[in-house]
Amino acid sequence: MLENVVEFFKNLPDKVCVQCGDKIDEQCECYNNTCEKCDSL
Ligand SMILES: [Zn+2]
Repeated sequence: MLENVVEFFKNLPDKVCVQCGDKIDEQCECYNNTCEKCDSL
């Protein structure tokens, strides 16, 4: 059961900023499609 959850998260694609293409830190609570840098512009 637990292994299935781990596999699920491993298979999640990396979130990428639509503005600059940088990988978005999934730890941050933003659910938009831009990274912190572009978000603060
Ligand atoms: Zn960005």
